[in-house]
Amino acid sequence: MSVSVTQRPISDLSRDDLVQWCAEQGQAAFRADQIRRWMFGKRVNDFDEMHDVPAQLRAALHEQFTLFASEISAHQVSTDGTEKLLLELLDGNKVECVLMRESTRRTVCISTQVGCAMGCVFCASGLLGITRNLSTGEILEQLLRVDRLLSPDERITNVVVMGIGEPLANLPALLPVLHTINEKGALGLGARRITISTVGLPDKIRELAALGTRYNLAISLHAPNDPLRNELVPVNKNVGIQAILQAADEYFEQSGRRISYEYVLLGGVNDTPEIAKQLGHLLRGRNSHVNVIPMNTVAEMPFKDPGRVRTERFVKTLRELGIIVTIRKRKGEDIDAACGQLRLKREDGGS
Ligand code: SAH
Repeated sequence: MSVSVTQRPISDLSRDDLVQWCAEQGQAAFRADQIRRWMFGKRVNDFDEMHDVPAQLRAALHEQFTLFASEISAHQVSTDGTEKLLLELLDGNKVECVLMRESTRRTVCISTQVGCAMGCVFCASGLLGITRNLSTGEILEQLLRVDRLLSPDERITNVVVMGIGEPLANLPALLPVLHTINEKGALGLGARRITISTVGLPDKIRELAALGTRYNLAISLHAPNDPLRNELVPVNKNVGIQAILQAADEYFEQSGRRISYEYVLLGGVNDTPEIAKQLGHLLRGRNSHVNVIPMNTVAEMPFKDPGRVRTERFVKTLRELGIIVTIRKRKGEDIDAACGQLRLKREDGGS
């Protein structure tokens, strides 16, 4: 018992949990807020740096918690300012998180699982299957780690839950993280700055809607018809596009947030004008937007980047049907920043 308590990461605790813990130490609630200010705002790396926290309370923190539960196993910096961390968790598993810089934006991409069970045929994250869900603390810690890469005048401005794993398959651990990102006194980012990317699990989308959350939802569609989507996103066989679109429409009704549909463009597979037309008809009249992502080549996989000409033709066909389209910019190509790639390399090559 004492061993696991000793190793508990403090980021596993909500504000309420920390207030209660402080009370158990005979301390007032404001001490919890002080501790959290040092964790989130002032980026300390040790409980001892929390100067206005009484020494006795700091000693108790040391005894019962760790500030971080992971070690930085690799840190890569791209020429475009993108940075990537590979974190080694207490049990030796590894996860990735990425910092992307774009003008005044500082966007962090976080992972929710070790591996992924969805099996998308073009995605590096699912190649090794799923090992386990991440805990709340393990997800939150990615943000704390990335926050400490920033210079004093930089702040995290956006969070995308688009790293390794299927976020909606780990909602119980993820929801408290989103709450903390949102919460004043923690990261304090508005819901509109937080995006959850999902393969499309209708029941879970409804669960999120029922909670009244107003996070942005991005749905990884990748195909406008079920036979093609079944091939690319195997989990679709049990779901179906119509059920996803219905749940997404309901999410829009509830949240007022325009749904974003992600579409990885695989050269010669899902990038023809006919398929673009089908996609356009499917989404026409829906309050949505398509984010086209040219395939990031993964050595182990047969799919290829469609190239500029095919990408532009696809986008043009969609726009002619009145669909709002953006093309995702590549970030950190020189550091394997696309999701799952660095972890895959390390697990494969043992380097
Ligand atoms: N499981 C969630 C979130 C993680 S994947 C989801 O499916 O949305 C984040 C996004 O990256 C998804 O849209 C996914 O389809 C895309 N992606 C995965 N592998 C890719 C690759 N090799 N090239 C481009 N995008 C990829």
